[in-house]
Parts: sequence; C-alpha cells; structure tokens
Amino acid sequence: MIENTSIKELKGIGEKTQKLFEKVGVSTVGDLIRYYPRGYDVYEDPVPISEVEEGKVQTVAGAIFGRVQVSGNRNMQVTTIHVKDLTGTIKAVWFRMPFLRNTLAGGGKIILRGRVTSRKGGLAMEHPEIFYPAGKYEEKIHTLQPVYGLTAGLSNNVVAKAMHQALSQLDLTRETLPDELRLKYGLAEYNYAIRGIHFPEDKEVFYHARERLVFEEFLEFILSIRKMKDKNERIENEYIVQRKPEVDELIGRLPYELTKAQKKVWDEIAHDMASDTAMSRLVQGDVGSGKTIVAVLALISVALNGYQGAMMAPTEVLARQHYDSITRLLEEYGIKIKVELLTGSMTAKEKRRAYDRIECGYARIIIGTHALIQDRVYYDCLALVVTDEQHRFGVKQREAFARKGGMPHVLVMSATPIPRTLAIILYGDLDISVIDELPANRLPIKNCVVETGYRKTAYAFMKKQVGEGRQCYVICPMVEESEQLEVENVLDYAAMLQEEMGKGIVVSCLHGRMRQAEKDDIMERFGRCEIQILVSTTVIEVGIDVPNATVMMIENAERFGLAQLHQLRGRVGRGKHQSYCIFMSGSKAKETRERLNILNESNDGFKIASEDLRLRGPGDLFGIRQSGMMDFKLGDVFQDAKVLQMANEAADLLLNDENGWLKNLPKHEGTSSVII
Ligand code: ADP
Ligand code: MG
Repeated sequence: MIENTSIKELKGIGEKTQKLFEKVGVSTVGDLIRYYPRGYDVYEDPVPISEVEEGKVQTVAGAIFGRVQVSGNRNMQVTTIHVKDLTGTIKAVWFRMPFLRNTLAGGGKIILRGRVTSRKGGLAMEHPEIFYPAGKYEEKIHTLQPVYGLTAGLSNNVVAKAMHQALSQLDLTRETLPDELRLKYGLAEYNYAIRGIHFPEDKEVFYHARERLVFEEFLEFILSIRKMKDKNERIENEYIVQRKPEVDELIGRLPYELTKAQKKVWDEIAHDMASDTAMSRLVQGDVGSGKTIVAVLALISVALNGYQGAMMAPTEVLARQHYDSITRLLEEYGIKIKVELLTGSMTAKEKRRAYDRIECGYARIIIGTHALIQDRVYYDCLALVVTDEQHRFGVKQREAFARKGGMPHVLVMSATPIPRTLAIILYGDLDISVIDELPANRLPIKNCVVETGYRKTAYAFMKKQVGEGRQCYVICPMVEESEQLEVENVLDYAAMLQEEMGKGIVVSCLHGRMRQAEKDDIMERFGRCEIQILVSTTVIEVGIDVPNATVMMIENAERFGLAQLHQLRGRVGRGKHQSYCIFMSGSKAKETRERLNILNESNDGFKIASEDLRLRGPGDLFGIRQSGMMDFKLGDVFQDAKVLQMANEAADLLLNDENGWLKNLPKHEGTSSVII
C-alpha cells in the first residue's frame, strides 16, 4: 500500500464511508495519515468523588446508587443516575438517550469520564463516557486516545480503525529531512513521528512525534515564504500611485484625528506605492487600533489615480461592514468613486453584474470575500490588493489575490499579536508596519473574571446598560458533541436570556449554521441598534465594529485561548462609552483563574500572548488550542516558538546549501499548503 492508494482499499471502507471521508478532505491513504488528531483523550486514574473539580474532564469510579431516572418530555428526555463512592455522590445526566435506562438497569460498579459542571443541587457530569462494566476502563487507562475532527455520520472509532490499518499496511515513507538536520535538532524519524502522532504510547512519544512534524511544517512554510521574497524583491512598480490632495483633505475632515501611529503607517504606505518597487507590506495593530481607515486611504488613493483597489475580508459579515462604511465615507465627503461588493452569497445575476463592472473598470474599489479570487473575476487594472485579518487566509490565497493584477501592491493587515522576531519569520516576504497605539478617546475596557454564580448579576448589569442605550454581546457556552448541539445551545440560551430581559429588549442570536443572508440581516439590525443583545458563537470574533456595544460577556471563558479571548473582547471598547468585559469561568481551578487574570490585568495583545506562553506547560498541548488564529495544521506559533526559530535557522542552512542537502529534499505527495 502506498500513499496514493485510495482509502477504499482499506477494509471496512465502503462507498458511503468513503464519501464521508471525502467531506473532511481525505481520499487517499496519504491524506488519511496526515489527518492528524484534533486532540487526545487522556485516560487518567479515577479521582475520589469528593475531589472532582468543576470545569475539568475527570473520571470517577463508583456504584450506581438508586434507580435510573428518565424525565423530561418527548423531545428532550433526560436520563439521570447517581454514582457513589466512599467519599461522596455525583449525578450524571444524558440528554436524548432514554435507552440508557435499560443499559444501566443492572446497577453495580461503573466508571464515568466526562466534564464536571455545576447544576442545581451540586456538581454533575453531563454526557460522560460510560465504562460499564467498570473493567472496560482498564484497557484504556493511561493511554492517549486520538480525537479526530468528524463530520455527521463519521465516528471517531471509524477514523481510528482506518488509521490503524493504514499505518500497519503502508510502505515506509522516505524520510524527507536530511539526516544531518534531523540529528542536529534531535528530531524523530518521519515514519516514527506519523505513528506517534496518531497513537502515542505515552506523552513522551507524543511530544517527540509532534515536534518533528511541527518542525517540518514550519520549515516548508518558511522555505515557501523565502521563495516569495526573492521574487518580490525584483518587482518593479507598475502602478505609481501619486499622493492626491483629496486624500489629505479627507484625513483633515475625518471625525477624529488619526493617531500618530496611523499617520506614520499611512506615510509608509503612500511612500511605498509611489516608489520604484511594488509594495508588499504587513500592517500589524492590536484590535481597535484603527487599521481599516489606513487601508481605506490606500484604496481611495489608488482609485483616484485611475486604478482599481480590492480588499478581501475573511467573512461576509465583515466584507459587508467594510463596504457599507467605505460607501458612507465617500458619500459624506463627496468623493465620486464606484465601490463594488462581491461575496459568495450574492445571486448569480448580482455576481454577473459585479463581474462586468469590475472587468470594464467602472468599479474602482472592490470589497469582498474569497469570491474576489475566483477564476471568473477579471480586473481591469488592479493596482492594490488588501487582505484584512490576514491570519485567516492562506499564503496561497494571498498570492492568488496578487496574481489577479499585473504586479499589484500588496497590503496585508493582521491583529495577531506576535512578537516582532516571530513576525519577521512568518511574514518574511513582507515589510512590517506596526500601529502601536490606540485612539486617544478610548476608555480602557473594565474587565472581570467571575464564576457562574455571578450570572444573574451580569444579566442585571446588561439590562442596565441597555437601559442607557448601549448594546451587549454574549458568547454562548461551548458544547463539544456536535455543531448541531451547538446551534440548539445558542437558540436555547437566547430564548432563556430573552425571558430574563423581558419584552422591551430584543435578544437575537448568530451562529455558524445560519444562511448568509440571515447573518447579514442580524448584523445589520444589530448595527442599527434594533437588536440590543446578541447571543453568538465565536463567529462574531473577527473584525466586527459596532461602537455602541459596551458589554461582552463570555461564557466558558476557561475553554478559550487568551489570544482569542482578547479578540472577542476587542468587539467592545470601540467607541466613546465605557465598556466592560465579563469572563464567566466554569472552572474554579487555580491555573484557570491565573490564566484569565492575565486578561483582567492587561488590554495589550502582545503582552497577553507572551504572558500566556509563559504560563503554559507542554501539557496544555492536549487542551485548548492557543491562538486559533494562525492555523498551521499542527504547529502553533506561540507554543512552538522555539521550533519555529529552529526551523528558521534550518531554512538558512538549507538555502545556503553548502552541504547540498536541499536538492535531495523530497516532498510528501499531497502535502497540503499551510494556512496562516
Ligand atoms: P481594527 O484595527 O481592529 O480593524 P478598526 O479599524 O475597525 O479597528 O477601528 C475601530 C474603530 O475605531 C472604528 O469605529 C473606527 O472608526 C475608529 N477609529 C479609527 N481610527 C480612529 C482614531 N484615530 N480616533 C478615533 N477613532 C478611530
Ligand atoms: Mg479590523
């Protein structure tokens, strides 16, 4: 069996399962073995019931105490048991699994493993994994069990089984790193690493396997970046963009004065675009530092010079927001430039019209999503491409975007708080500008980290804020089981909150499963303050700007990475009103409190990221994914900063290539592109 073998050759994979695998991007055995686990279940020793901690996944061993109860209505049957050991009793509940009444009717010893939550009347486990009879747990204890990303119909078990087969039948893959390099950095051999990442015998094996794969991933990425840099250095500027008085006039008439940092960055951009070589620049700035206006000035300049400029945003909601605010701005200042919106959810007819206006050059500023880089879009004279929230796009997409023009100027914007040393490695092909100050009129956000008992107080506080004309966001508790449950959860939560808030206040919700038009509609109404409280999953995180919103309440804050929490918090504190962020923690664990306190004490994204890094041990690799921002398949630029530096050094060695290593460097077939 080789990497190109179709997964259909594996036992137990019929047409139906094959289709499901295709949905998650796996069609060959090679794809399969590079379908890395999302995380691992660690089966620890059971803990005494009196010592379970809220918010953690734990295992308890005891005896079923009393009867198995099934309550609730037909749509939502709740099965409850009580489990008792020498130290105490804990409740366990399952939703929609009434058949458990029969399964567990025999009573006796049982082991449960699941997240401990607080319910009325004490701690409980929701949907714990059942080991009954209890002896079944023995087989798994102390092992790391891979948890794979799934899709409806595809179970973890099926993936794990297929993986076992693939790994045992696959011919050895040729090592891709030169031995000298592997030895120099103490990296595991490829075949060992690929087995170790899926089925590590213990944590040591896992760390070693993972480090090797992360190294390789970073190295490949850095090498591709370096190649781009070489290319870019020679690009002549085909679109000389002169500074126009209209732009300076516009800056003078904005409702606020640009910060010193914004002015400096704008100067750098204007200078680049008028120089002999094409611009390729990264603008880094914390959430709320005002990156948009700087990009907009660049777009307007380009348009006034008779060219086209386009800006790509990661979500439709954000694209539309940019489109609306640019259109409004131009109208207000009487600048006649045609702005076009292009997104995937537009009708075929709308799209065709937009394509026409873009191709003939009538549309001068084009705002959109990935739709901007589709094959069918032809630009007339594209001189500038801007990607907003760059960390959401792949380098490949950025390149594809740039190729839409002759050799357009490239501007990428990112709020990712990474130290400069790392930014230079990751964005090696770009010059870097930093907006390192926030607008002066901002009041610092007031933060608090609270436990779930504070919820009612928080609601009362939100009610008061809404009474004063403000708006609030609530990020819903997370559910792990499935996206379907997550949606129900958001809906339930919003209904509950609506009840709590009473008739005069409009509570709505937003989640990933909604149709785009619905999402846009909700966001627009929230923007116009027709909705006062928005209950949402993390889809809200990127870029949304509603300055009147002053409260951000985040449920289950302990389950997010700090950088992501910081992004979420960045949705408030954008206007002149005092803003508040409430981190609701479902865990009383000391480490959690310590971690969340970092946010409590700082509003500075760079500082938060580095503090977070300091607090994290290697054990955290099993838990929360830190950034959720730079989506390497395995690597995490924060956590694996050392490996990143190593890979960077290795890239130097390879590129200098005194040892002739590079030419012998084979590639894995089908290695997918890295997304950052
Ligand atoms: P981000 O850097 O997170 O993309 P935005 O560009 O969305 O931030 O700006 C956040 C808010 O700050 C917007 O409402 C914007 O109009 C406003 N803003 C931008 N620059 C300034 C400034 N110099 N003074 C006051 N407000 C500003
Ligand atoms: Mg932004």
